[in-house]
Amino acid sequence: MASRQQTATISKETSPLQVKGGNMPVRQEALSRVKSINLAKVDSPKKVSSYFGENTFNLTAMKEYISKDAFDAFKRWMSEGVTITIDQANEIANAMKDWAMSKGATYYTHWFQPMTGLTAEKHDSFISITGQGTVIEKFSGSKLIQGEPDASSFPSGGIRATFEARGYTAWDPSSPAFIIESNSGKTLCIPTIFISYHGEALDKKLPLLRSDDALSRAAVNLLKLFGHKDAKKVISTCGAEQEYFLIDKNYYNLRPDLIMTGRTLVGASSPKGQQLEDQYFGAIKERVVNYMFEVAEEAYKLGIPIMTRHNEVAPHQYEFAPIFEESNIAADHNLLLMEIMKKVALRHNLVCLLHEKPFAGINGSGKHLNWSLADDKGNNLLNPGDTPEDNLQFLAVLAAVLRAVYLHSDLLRASIALAGNEHRLGANEAPPAIISVFLGEQLNSILNMIENGTKDKISKSDIIDLGVARLPRFNKDTTDRNRTSPFAFTGAKFEFRAVGSSQNISTPITMVNTIIADSLDYVAGEIKKASSGKDFNTAVLRVIAKIVKETKDIRFEGNNYAEEWVKEAKKRGLPNVASTCESLKALEDKKNITLFEKYKVFSSEEIVARYHIWVHTYNTMIEIEANTLNEIVNSTVVPASMEYEEMLADNLSKVVRLKKDAGLKVIPEAINDQKEHLAEVVAKIYYVRHNTASLVKMLEKAGKLPHEKKAELYFDELKPLMEHIRKHVDDLERVVPDEHWDLPKYREMLFIK
Ligand code: ADP
Ligand code: MG
Repeated sequence: MASRQQTATISKETSPLQVKGGNMPVRQEALSRVKSINLAKVDSPKKVSSYFGENTFNLTAMKEYISKDAFDAFKRWMSEGVTITIDQANEIANAMKDWAMSKGATYYTHWFQPMTGLTAEKHDSFISITGQGTVIEKFSGSKLIQGEPDASSFPSGGIRATFEARGYTAWDPSSPAFIIESNSGKTLCIPTIFISYHGEALDKKLPLLRSDDALSRAAVNLLKLFGHKDAKKVISTCGAEQEYFLIDKNYYNLRPDLIMTGRTLVGASSPKGQQLEDQYFGAIKERVVNYMFEVAEEAYKLGIPIMTRHNEVAPHQYEFAPIFEESNIAADHNLLLMEIMKKVALRHNLVCLLHEKPFAGINGSGKHLNWSLADDKGNNLLNPGDTPEDNLQFLAVLAAVLRAVYLHSDLLRASIALAGNEHRLGANEAPPAIISVFLGEQLNSILNMIENGTKDKISKSDIIDLGVARLPRFNKDTTDRNRTSPFAFTGAKFEFRAVGSSQNISTPITMVNTIIADSLDYVAGEIKKASSGKDFNTAVLRVIAKIVKETKDIRFEGNNYAEEWVKEAKKRGLPNVASTCESLKALEDKKNITLFEKYKVFSSEEIVARYHIWVHTYNTMIEIEANTLNEIVNSTVVPASMEYEEMLADNLSKVVRLKKDAGLKVIPEAINDQKEHLAEVVAKIYYVRHNTASLVKMLEKAGKLPHEKKAELYFDELKPLMEHIRKHVDDLERVVPDEHWDLPKYREMLFIK
């Protein structure tokens, strides 16, 4: 840190903060550069509708470029699953190329979602050699349908032996191809799934598509029971509210921890945090609004329906929320949005932080996953209808959700288990690691009535008495706002709030879809059994009542952050798993493997592979953090603190000498105070050095352990040790003079914008 050697030389023109001899400490120099970029004023912005989706090969674009036969075949493929012929695939590939080239694209890539990281791309040019020194632009159906990236560097969790390193990408026609623009050119991106030679999923998208199928089959089955004989398809719908932080790039460049790990590993909290509650929904700073405008514009070109933008609770924290879409598309769009957010931030001299907990002591970032199901006519199955029958159907679906979460909260917990999210879940912050469901007062009282009021024979008037005849529309205003629940009914949809901000939402959606498919099947089966030869409505109410009774423990309406809830949940036997590795064990659980195999979402091999990959990823993240912390402490914190130590020691010895030699009158308390302070600094330097040495030893020891044991050691011992080191570093930060401290401080990163 800081030091006399480590100063940046800057010219008079670049900085107003001129220090002796033209040198100034690097942090001060960074501070002097913090400012927004100059932007030309836009007086009449283009209407969004005039360019929405212009960079996507959507149905409108496709229709223009291919024959009617091929277009109809494609639509049939999407709605009924009848695959197209290779000739039709060639026609579409060619059309896609022509369309992309008309937009200026010269490269194409199969775009996919490996099991670590967010998305992967391997770019190929459209060119083919035709003769000596001549090329043409060509793109065939076979290249559209299948690609073969060298997959050996993607994690497979043991699915692919190294001798069989091939992985294949296969076109996902349900998600439109799109063009990514950069300053020097444009690339056609084709959404694909990523599979092994034997067809096992190596990505996060294929399981999502499979879970959608499972959900559709189960929901259609139930709809038919309720008299919708023509129901063909049900889709899951999703809208992901994306939280994020922004900080100036100048600060970011000076924080090795943010660069390496996405979060600050050290950093004293600033005197002002979020306690004044003055940020949430506050006026958005112009610099940030400009950024938001550009993100939205880029998103609109790709057909991503951004709807809402606002300030979040923590300083310099914000949110984007889209209009909901079919889950598969919503997942692709959320991934793209995250890419756009990061890219556009850099253009504005900002860095977009998507980590779940970039700053200790203030709110972290999540991604509220709003989820529902809709039939092929667009009816939302989590919306009550106009007739008692419709309402019974709504309540049957609701009962299925309750049962699903009750039985499989472990899978929901596992789907959001990652090193970053571990700082939120159960770590004294929203939301807790205990999964429960919030329904709101109205729905609760209806369910309670049903539970207590089911008689042997139910007439229409009984149904009216039970409040089922006319259910209110549970729109925004009628559902209570309980912001602490991890799985809340918020009016015609559920909101899974524990998802991490950096996550690919495909996995949480896959889990939700699968467990709810299972429960919809269960509900349908029970209704069939109970209604044979009996009144249908009575049977449905009976089944609902039984499920409501059995799943009561999963419902909680109170404050999920309260200590009492932790106790209460324990009494109810609800799992409360803080550790990532431990919660991932649900993926290996026999009952869960059976469930996944039954619904053909994962084979046993596929899900166990994921378990191992995610434990390994967790370990790797923690190791990167520990090594970064070690480096920061020893290369910056200790040297900076030693300069201060030297200054204190010099000072003290001078005072003592003056007292002795010149008879300076100092009160003994003042000398003692200086001595104590110096001793404290000496001690803190020792602690951080000593503890980082232990940390290095612990990493060495961990190197010899199998990865589950390693993860345990990291959770139980390494992370607490890192926190301990941080505490001492933060104490030093509070006393070491600014000119020696090169790491930008919280109060600068979060407040000087
Ligand atoms: P809230 O006030 O509960 O946050 P909003 O209307 O602002 O509700 O919606 C939040 C998010 O939920 C938005 O992204 C929205 O598109 C999404 N959403 C709304 N209805 C549904 C639905 N039926 N299925 C999935 N997501 C939905
Ligand atoms: Mg919300």
